[in-house]
Amino acid sequence: MKANIDWKPIKTVLLDMDGTLLDLYFDNYFWQEYMPVKWGEMNNMSAELAKAKLHDWYAKEAGTLSWYCLDFWTERLNFNVLELKANVEHLIKYRPHAETFLKRLDESAYSVVMVTNAHEDLIKMKVEKTGIDVFFDRIISAHTIGHAKEEQSFWQKLQLEVPFNLDETLLIDDNLTVLRAAREFGIKNLFTIAKPDSQNPEQETAEFDVIHSFQDLVF
Ligand SMILES: [Mg+2]
Repeated sequence: MKANIDWKPIKTVLLDMDGTLLDLYFDNYFWQEYMPVKWGEMNNMSAELAKAKLHDWYAKEAGTLSWYCLDFWTERLNFNVLELKANVEHLIKYRPHAETFLKRLDESAYSVVMVTNAHEDLIKMKVEKTGIDVFFDRIISAHTIGHAKEEQSFWQKLQLEVPFNLDETLLIDDNLTVLRAAREFGIKNLFTIAKPDSQNPEQETAEFDVIHSFQDLVF
């Protein structure tokens, strides 16, 4: 089914970055494959053991600001996570038609704001690779706000930073937990992404309206 967005009332468009505009494969591959293997090598651990250990840690931190914080993992794992990410930065890519969608939005009258849980240093890396920053009026990191998007405090503080009307705002985010938090806060127009990761199957999204292709979005 095509995403049926009613653009008439919309004034502000809030867009997530990873898994929404950029291919989540970079992040998934890094955290689930590349990093555990490297970390295992550094600590004389098999890849399997390293993956199992990290999987436990990930599960504990999922959805918190720490989970998204490079400094947290750099300290916890005792090596520079950002430096290691640079080794696989060739995997940082736009999702299909995302760049064209952003260009069209940029030429429109909407206020376009990136809201991301990504760490500022990682945003910088991705901006250098893609030039994605030019399409936004503002780029807001959860680390600047001090709360992950999964928390109500994020949305409360965001609204002070970037005033927006709940009925006139559209949020597109691949993360269903984030969409639930935004719904609880009162944002009315919420859409998710069918296939955040180009190398993995579509996600189960029945709870929210879903965008299969940015080409479907007509405004
Ligand atoms: Mg995302």
